[in-house]
Amino acid sequence: MPAAARPSATLTIDLDAIAANYRLLRERLGEGTACGAVVKADAYGLGADRVAPALAAAGCRDFFVATADEAIVLRQLFRRQNITAAVYVFLGPDPGGTKELIAYELTPALNDRRQIEDWAKAARAADRALDAIIHVDTGMSRLGLQPKEATWLGANAKALEDVNVRAVMSHLACADDPDDPTNMEQLARFIETRALLPAAPASLANSAGILLGPEYHFQIVRPGIALYGGNPLIHDNNIFSQVISIKSFIAQVRDVDTGQAVGYGATHRAAGPTRIATVPVGYADGYLRSLSNHAAASLGGVRVPVVGRVSMDLITLDVTAAPPDLCHPGCTVELIGDTITLDDLAAAGGTISYEILTRLGPRLRRTYAGGQGA
Ligand SMILES: *Cc1c(COP(=O)(O)O)cnc(C)c1O
Repeated sequence: MPAAARPSATLTIDLDAIAANYRLLRERLGEGTACGAVVKADAYGLGADRVAPALAAAGCRDFFVATADEAIVLRQLFRRQNITAAVYVFLGPDPGGTKELIAYELTPALNDRRQIEDWAKAARAADRALDAIIHVDTGMSRLGLQPKEATWLGANAKALEDVNVRAVMSHLACADDPDDPTNMEQLARFIETRALLPAAPASLANSAGILLGPEYHFQIVRPGIALYGGNPLIHDNNIFSQVISIKSFIAQVRDVDTGQAVGYGATHRAAGPTRIATVPVGYADGYLRSLSNHAAASLGGVRVPVVGRVSMDLITLDVTAAPPDLCHPGCTVELIGDTITLDDLAAAGGTISYEILTRLGPRLRRTYAGGQGA
């Protein structure tokens, strides 16, 4: 391969691992519960155009995104590929956007009284009932009907005359910690609020919510991070398969003397004679600057620390203790993979797997493993 064709780093996305994670989630659910998939933010940065069809092939028929733009792109893809599935939009309709939602057969969440009234009006104008989700706030204080609005809706069933309520949903704030009492409080509030509204299927659980147990499952669940290999729980071992790996290579190796500085700001100084390997990945690739002096990479399974600042295009590793035959220019460096998991890297950077995934940069060369026809 000519040198110019070599990518500075490769992001490999294992579509079979995503399908396996989907099946593992589904195994936890009873007969009456459908397993949807959250593919917002381009399937958490992994490419909705590849991930959503792989999930559809695994049996998923309910796809959730954040915005109308994301939903339109997904519907267009599904139409091209003859995939029949519901596409839900968490953010709901804005006043000027109802026609597009209808044209692309999208199902908005209705998050407040205004959205309910706008959607009902759009239905009357279209002269047919339109599908929607009613989102109720049970403790996130972010999106969804506030208690007052839920009470209003309960007393004004007419407001939903022209709306097919496909689900009543809410979202859990603390499901990543099963011991947090907020979970049971939100569950109780959800059951109470749902009883005010017209009978409809219900949806409460994200990935972590599914693991809280069957009383959180209702009729449809909305996992995201578990599909992509992140651990939904903060204290437990990850039961989901790793989906991504990021590999780069050593561009240069140098020996530095005791006291010599490494990188911007001279934040690291060699404690003794040190061998430094430079790798062409940086914060422009989503390798966060907060990983400076905190993360580790792997050379053939041997962990080596990131020393000095992460810069835009480069990181520096202390490879003094690694086997010399793994530390030549051109040797492969694993940044995420078998040795360094997605969650390891997120923890080292003081963040969560979701943020690592959704910040992976365009310079990484994406390759897909598995999937249909593989
Ligand atoms: C993002 C999101 C999810 C998925 O959450 P995970 O923790 O990734 O499983 C589910 N529901 C809503 C409303 C969301 O915004």
